[in-house]
Amino acid sequence: MSTIVGQSDIHSAIEAVICAGRHAAEHGWVAATSGNFSVRSADRIAITKTGHDKGHLREADIAVVSLSAPAGDDLSAEAALHFARYLADPRVGAVFHVHMPLAAILGRRYLQQGHFILHGWELQKALGAPSHLSEVRVPVLPNDQDIPSLATAAESALAETSEAGRAPGYVIAGHGIYVWGDTPGAAQRYLEAFDALFNLHFYWSERFL
Ligand SMILES: [Zn+2]
Repeated sequence: MSTIVGQSDIHSAIEAVICAGRHAAEHGWVAATSGNFSVRSADRIAITKTGHDKGHLREADIAVVSLSAPAGDDLSAEAALHFARYLADPRVGAVFHVHMPLAAILGRRYLQQGHFILHGWELQKALGAPSHLSEVRVPVLPNDQDIPSLATAAESALAETSEAGRAPGYVIAGHGIYVWGDTPGAAQRYLEAFDALFNLHFYWSERFL
């Protein structure tokens, strides 16, 4: 990852957040105003305010905050998980969080294990794996209403494993998935790949394992 959108592109960042919400809604990943989306523009973050229908976001539904002092009364509690990702890795240009049903289900199934492995699927290459023979590790975290605690647990889990072979996202059991990329386009592509791969993994493991 290398490209980070420039400071002057904050309006592009806001537009990218609106598009990401619409795309997620079309896939059924953000029921009942759930999910949140953010895009970085230099040291500022455009991020969805709490509670809006993510399929019909307007510019007024997006907050712009400074990464050095990321706060705001109308931010979602889960915004802290976005900021933790940006602060941990300067290459991260977009963070998307959705309540993808199969992410919530697989998270519950693999909660004790703390992760699960995608293996044998051509589409893994969309997550950066060299081939279908690679193993892609998906971290799984227990859900927690204490968001600062969840952010600490998530960043610790990521720091404990090498980037090679680790998916660009983590699953929260019974909840959903956080995905990040260097650009909004990359993050959206990862969401699509996770959704397809989780379907493949779920039906494969149900029928054949
Ligand atoms: Zn959520």
